[in-house]
Amino acid sequence: MKAEIIASGTELLLGQITDTNTPFIANQLATLGIDLFYASIVGDNFERFLGVLQQAFKRSDITIITGGLGPTKGDITREVIAGLMNEKMEIDAASKKHITEYFGRLGMEMPVNNLKQATLIPSATAILNPLGTAPGWWVEKNGKIIISLPGPPAEMQPMWLREVHPRLEKKAGSIIVSRTLKTWGLSEAKLDEMVGPFMGMPNPTLALYAKPDGIHMRITAKASNKETAYALIRERESTLQNMLKDNIWGVDDDTLEEIIARQLLNKGLTIAIAESFTSGFLAYSLANLPDSQRFFRGGLVTANNDIRASLGIIADSKTPKTDTQTASCMASMVIEKFYADIGIGLDGYIENKDGAVIGVAFVAVNVKGKKELNVSQTYPGRHALLARRSVMHALYSLRKTLTVL
Ligand code: AMP
Ligand code: MG
Repeated sequence: MKAEIIASGTELLLGQITDTNTPFIANQLATLGIDLFYASIVGDNFERFLGVLQQAFKRSDITIITGGLGPTKGDITREVIAGLMNEKMEIDAASKKHITEYFGRLGMEMPVNNLKQATLIPSATAILNPLGTAPGWWVEKNGKIIISLPGPPAEMQPMWLREVHPRLEKKAGSIIVSRTLKTWGLSEAKLDEMVGPFMGMPNPTLALYAKPDGIHMRITAKASNKETAYALIRERESTLQNMLKDNIWGVDDDTLEEIIARQLLNKGLTIAIAESFTSGFLAYSLANLPDSQRFFRGGLVTANNDIRASLGIIADSKTPKTDTQTASCMASMVIEKFYADIGIGLDGYIENKDGAVIGVAFVAVNVKGKKELNVSQTYPGRHALLARRSVMHALYSLRKTLTVL
């Protein structure tokens, strides 16, 4: 089945509001296994709207429209659909009752203008709107479907989830399930080389996406039921897990910070941070978590060389130094000063090398009285990006240490 989305509203074309309905519906269609081939935006102009709808009705099995169901003259979606179908709009008693009651609950009389929201055409049935006045329309004619929903996402989304999704699920006959594996420590090119053979396969499919928290691999399976789709995903996931092991740090909605917080809480360990060029970003990423007071002891930003010398990170301020050893010094120093079980030192610098900005990060994860994990990494990119990557790098190293502790 081929679907198409039309977001209506002149305010969208003027750039006054951003269309968030299309991505929401697009995502939902993907999970239903319904192909989405076109999405357009059209203003509140009858001829142009009708033109776009005519084209959609011709080439797609399902057309989903959002917006234009309000009570004003500018809201013309019903009129446009009625025009395409060449059918007359009539008051629907049940919808009128719903709207009258809605106003009644607010202690108001229904304005006459709202009556047009209670209309239907013979090919349409109403889609109930529990959160607003405007019901949607479900129109079926000549084997094609038009679904019209209100513009406000707070009304549209519940209507979609309660009424539209279940009906489309029945029609689609197949579902699509995805799972995202999140990696760190391998370049996109390297990962592409390793998992390349799976990327050409049809079901499940595999795609790579570079994100701030690493490279994501999305496995997507299509099947007639959820169980079969999940089985396809599980099999591919276990192959990839065996192949990439430690480089996969999480799945789906996992964040590295939350995984680490769980690990620290489960093991009853506390942590302290010393960082330089990331200006407190690493400390913030851990301190900002719920329950952080149970594991986060505190952090220092060691920027100034006199201070670094007085803290014992470097021998003296005239010979500044930044390397794995200074990172390790920083980690040990905060273990001692903050009475923590684990210290992280994140040191580094950003330099301009032949016109390109390069960041060099040194990470030390020290465990009190035990071992040290020291790593260094070079990144190209802008300052904010470098800081973010270095923090990810430190968190990833911490997760690795915690996993075997
Ligand atoms: P309408 O149903 O066209 O009268 O739209 C009412 C309101 O819903 C607009 O003023 C926006 O705030 C919101 N809205 C409409 N369409 C969209 C859309 N595609 N994405 C996000 N918000 C929307
Ligand atoms: Mg509008």
